[in-house]
Amino acid sequence: MSEKQIQEAARLIVDSPSTVALTGAGISTESGIPDFRGPDGLWTKVDPMKFASVDAFLSDPKAWWETAVQIAPTLLDAKPNAAHKGLAKLEKMGLLQCIITQNVDGLHQRSGSQHVLEVHGNLVNAVCIVCNDRVGRQYIERKIKKKQLPPTCPTCGGILKLDAVLFGEALPQDVYRQAVTVAGNCRLMIVVGSSLTVYPAASLPSIATQTGARLIIVNQEQTPFDAEADLVFHSIAGATLTTIVEAVHALRGKR
Ligand code: NAD
Repeated sequence: MSEKQIQEAARLIVDSPSTVALTGAGISTESGIPDFRGPDGLWTKVDPMKFASVDAFLSDPKAWWETAVQIAPTLLDAKPNAAHKGLAKLEKMGLLQCIITQNVDGLHQRSGSQHVLEVHGNLVNAVCIVCNDRVGRQYIERKIKKKQLPPTCPTCGGILKLDAVLFGEALPQDVYRQAVTVAGNCRLMIVVGSSLTVYPAASLPSIATQTGARLIIVNQEQTPFDAEADLVFHSIAGATLTTIVEAVHALRGKR
């Protein structure tokens, strides 16, 4: 990443009346959470169809929960890193309206970001597959401690599933609709740590650019949207966001 690119990114952020970030698994790898498609990706270790599909869940909810109990703590006990904190700082400075995240780890909220749309749900809560009621992490942890798997709904007795979207499930429509609206209304979108290959979330940068928004991509590897972007950083998210936020501070100080 060159100094010129950093200065240009800072200028785009400071001059934009409405900025939205779109984040993916790559923003959380520096917190120790493997991504899906990178060289150390989760799916080189766990078969997604055996765990992350709704068919796998429905065919054996007990076995699914036993795997979830092994995997979920890696995500839920992780700490926000410099990239999450950089976006939280931009929001505090009034320069970032919203984060749309494909992640289910809750790290944006834990780094202080207030406006977060989780288009793939989260692993923090669980949802009843019968009555749709939601329960919090403490309830689930009590059930896990008592080895009552799969946990059941306190309201109707139905089976509970973690509130993350599995392959074969629809996205939460209300949240995705809001994401489309903020993408369509923003003047700048900053993508951080996403391969931009998982749809429909990967269509959000196009929704933004079609209405004239500028696009910055921060991702270690190339993405199919690099050619559409005003600026592309093929670099580590934490260091890149830290440097950009410092440049934003400096630029604001000068004006
Ligand atoms: P992805 O795995 O398809 O892509 C991640 C991208 O991030 C890769 O292109 C990789 O090169 C890049 N990357 C990895 N570490 C990086 C770093 N430190 N700095 C910059 N770039 C880095 O992820 P995706 O696009 O989010 O889509 C896959 C699905 O993965 C999403 O649906 C998401 O729900 C799910 N997922 C979430 C988590 C999480 O919640 N942390 C973890 C794994 C997968």
